Amino acid sequence: MSTIVHTSAQVVYAACPLCDGAEFVPLGESACRNHPAWSAELPDKLRWQGCRACGHVFTESHWSDSALAAILAVQHAHQTPGTDVEPARRASARLVERLSTLRASFQGRWLDVGCGDGSLVTTAAEFGYDTVGIDVREESVKRLVEFGYAATKSSLEDFRDVRGFDVISLCDVLEHVPQPKRALARVQQLLAPHGLVLISCPNMDSFAWKWLDSRGQNPYWSELEHHHNFGRERLHALLAESGFEPCHFAVSERYRACMEIVARRR
Ligand SMILES: [Zn+2]
Repeated sequence: MSTIVHTSAQVVYAACPLCDGAEFVPLGESACRNHPAWSAELPDKLRWQGCRACGHVFTESHWSDSALAAILAVQHAHQTPGTDVEPARRASARLVERLSTLRASFQGRWLDVGCGDGSLVTTAAEFGYDTVGIDVREESVKRLVEFGYAATKSSLEDFRDVRGFDVISLCDVLEHVPQPKRALARVQQLLAPHGLVLISCPNMDSFAWKWLDSRGQNPYWSELEHHHNFGRERLHALLAESGFEPCHFAVSERYRACMEIVARRR
């Protein structure tokens, strides 16, 4: 039997972050050394596991504060404002239109969590929304502010607002945070009573995902900034457990094998 050695960069999950179950099924490991944010402080491989009680798939550990700070200091081009502006604007416009149709309004307050390349938050502003973007990466926020947009360097947990948002978008966010349930509890606090939350993330239940797996080409098992892999069913259940009712499903145009789920407060 081999001994598993953890580095000081890792905080091992003692329990499933979704259901507190303590029995895990090992799901294998993937090399992450080639990731642009990898450094010698981090392990060579990501080890994945499934919760025996609820089926959630997650990494055996998340990063310590210092390891995370080092990872976030690496800025990725595709998450920086100014990259592929026109195609990103068109895809974001379709998303804003869809949300607005579901709300029967093209106005209101919109919080974009993890605003990254800024395409969603700037397009929502273009449609007439009163927008705020937050991101944990300094450069994304700095560039948006330079162009006159409201943006703040903050995590969802630390962000403060008392007025309530009509739309809160988490595009490629929930799979990154160590505790997705806590993130959704925070969304509940920030969302207006009639508000909608949009969640975009890879979908393990999709054929696209299974096809990538079958070819050994699924990039998400080596993505060291991800701690969770959701399928539609588990994410729907998590939303229900967190006081939301999913009301729309779509395939994302943003990244490979991704889904977009819209939910309202129950
Ligand atoms: Zn679980």
